[in-house]
Amino acid sequence: RGVINNRTGGAALDNLIELDKKHFLHPTTSIQQQQEQGVKLLAESGQGIYLKDRDGKTYIDAMSSLWNVHIGHGREELADTAAAQMKKLAFSSAFSSFSHEPGIRLAEKIAKLAPEDLNAVFFTSGGSESNDSAIKLVRHYWKIQGKPNRRKIVALKRGYHGVASASTSATGIPEFWEMAGHMKDDFFHAATPYRSTTQEAIACLREKFESEGPDTIAAFMAEPIQGAGGVLIPQDDYFTEVRKLCDEYGILFIADEVITGFGRTGTMFGLQNWEVVPDVITFAKGVTSGYIPLGGVVVSDAIHNVLKQKSKGTLFHGFTYSGHPTAAAVGLKNIELIEKEGLVENSRKMGGKLLEGFKRIKDDLEIVGEVRAKGLLGAVELMKNPETNESFSKEQKVAPRVIEELHQRGVICRSVTYESTDIICFAPPLIINERQVEEIIDHLYQSISAVQEQLKAL
Ligand code: PMP
Repeated sequence: RGVINNRTGGAALDNLIELDKKHFLHPTTSIQQQQEQGVKLLAESGQGIYLKDRDGKTYIDAMSSLWNVHIGHGREELADTAAAQMKKLAFSSAFSSFSHEPGIRLAEKIAKLAPEDLNAVFFTSGGSESNDSAIKLVRHYWKIQGKPNRRKIVALKRGYHGVASASTSATGIPEFWEMAGHMKDDFFHAATPYRSTTQEAIACLREKFESEGPDTIAAFMAEPIQGAGGVLIPQDDYFTEVRKLCDEYGILFIADEVITGFGRTGTMFGLQNWEVVPDVITFAKGVTSGYIPLGGVVVSDAIHNVLKQKSKGTLFHGFTYSGHPTAAAVGLKNIELIEKEGLVENSRKMGGKLLEGFKRIKDDLEIVGEVRAKGLLGAVELMKNPETNESFSKEQKVAPRVIEELHQRGVICRSVTYESTDIICFAPPLIINERQVEEIIDHLYQSISAVQEQLKAL
C-alpha cells in the first residue's frame, strides 16, 4: 500500500499519462487515439477564463470546458458555499416528501427565472438525466390523462440531447446510435433549420407530425440553438412557428436548454431571445457553472396540475441525487453571482464583440464562410468556396487543423465536422472582457491564416 501511494503520489508526468492509458476510460474519446497519443491536455488549475496544464502552459478556455463554466474557473465563493453546506448537511433525501432548504430555495429561484407558468422543478445530476426525465414525465402526463398512445418524441437532425437511453434516441446524430442502438420506434427526426428557411423547416416538421400521427406524439424536443450540431442558430421566427405548430396538434414542446440556459446566449434562457414559452425546459451545465453536477426539468403549471391530481400519489421516477443539497446550494450561489455581476448582459455585449471579430476575419480570409453568435455562443464555418457553400473534403481535416493551431497557440475550442461541415465553435466563460475577446480573435485569425497557407501548399 505504501509503495503504491509513493508511486502515484509522486508520479511524474509520464507516469500519469501511462496510468491514464491503463485505467481511465474517457468519455466521448477515441480510445485508440488515447492509447497511441496519450493525454491531450492534463489540466492542473483554472482561474477566470484560463486553464493551466501540468507543464505550466496557460490556455484560454474558449469553450468554458464543456459549454458549462459560466462564471469562470477558480471562484472561491462556490468552493466556500459547497464546504459550508457539506459541513452542515452534505446530503439528505428528497424522496417520499423529505426535503431541505437548499433544494426548496433553488427550485423557487429557477421557477422565478423560467418564463411564465413554468414553476415546478424536478432535479437530476446532468443533461442526459434531465432529458430522459422530461421524456418520461411527458409520457406519464399523457398516460394519466387516458392517452397512453402519445409516446413518440420528434426531435431535430443534428440535435444533441445526451447519452442516457431516451436522450441518445432523441439525439439526431446517428453516430451516437451506432454504439448500442436506439429506440427507433418511438423517436423521429425532422430537418433542422440550417441553411433552410423557417418555412421549409416547419413544413418538414408538419410532415413528420402528420406521417407519424399527431395523436401518437408526446412531445417535440429541440435545443434553442443546437450546440454539438455546430452552433446552429435558427431564423428569428422559427420557434414562434414551432410553438404554433405544436399548439395546433396538441403536442408538448420540450426546450433543451442544457447549453443555452443561465445566460449563455445573452438571455437567461435561450428561447427568451424570441419570447417563446415551451411547456418543459431541461437544464444542467451553467446552473452550477460545472462546479458540481446538477441538472433538472422545469414543467408548466398545466403539467404540474395533472401530476398533482391524478398521479395516484407516487411519481415512480427519482435519482438518489435528485435535489442534492450541496449541489443545490452551489447552484443558488452560482445564479446569485450571475445576477450580481450582470453576466447575462455581459454575455450579450461580449457576444456582440465576438461576432464583430468573426466578421473582420471573414472579410480578410477567403476560407471563412458563415460566422454567427448569439450571446457568447458562436461559430465560424470554413469553406472551400463560401460563395457557393462548397465544403472542403473530409480528408483535408480543415477544422481539426484549425483547432490544432489554436491549441498550439493556447486556445481551447471545439470543431464540428459532421455532414461535410468544418465548424469552429466558441462558448467562452460569461465573465470574459473585451481584451480577452480580442485575444481569442487574434489567435483565431493567426490559426485560420496558417491553415489557409497549408491548404495552398498541398
Ligand atoms: N443536451 C444538450 C443540449 C447538451 O449539449 C448536452 C451535453 N453537452 C446534454 C444534453 C447532455 O448533458 P450531460 O452531458 O450533462 O448528460
